[in-house]
Amino acid sequence: MHELSICRAIAGIVAEHAGDRPVQTVYIQIGQLRQIVPDTLVHCWSLVSEGTALDGSQLRIESVPAQIRCTDCGHMQTLTVPVLLCGQCGGRSVSVVRGEEFLITSLELAEA
Ligand SMILES: [Zn+2]
Repeated sequence: MHELSICRAIAGIVAEHAGDRPVQTVYIQIGQLRQIVPDTLVHCWSLVSEGTALDGSQLRIESVPAQIRCTDCGHMQTLTVPVLLCGQCGGRSVSVVRGEEFLITSLELAEA
């Protein structure tokens, strides 16, 4: 499953940064174009973290709206629906500015 492999990747990065310190919360940003279901991701996180040093930690997900820029007229817009089309000139030649993020923004460590 897509979300499961993402959780494994997150767990790997978090473990690397936290070292021996217990992690309470992991904050991540996910672009809407990634088509990840946050609830599924949270569920997968509990599966992946169970029995590891990250057991009991929480995943906090911030969804980043998709933003595109038209290469014909330069118009920038935030997408409410995942259709890659310029709202100003109708051009299809657009580049994605935001919406493909997958970032771990911060870690909250538990008191030792
Ligand atoms: Zn345009």
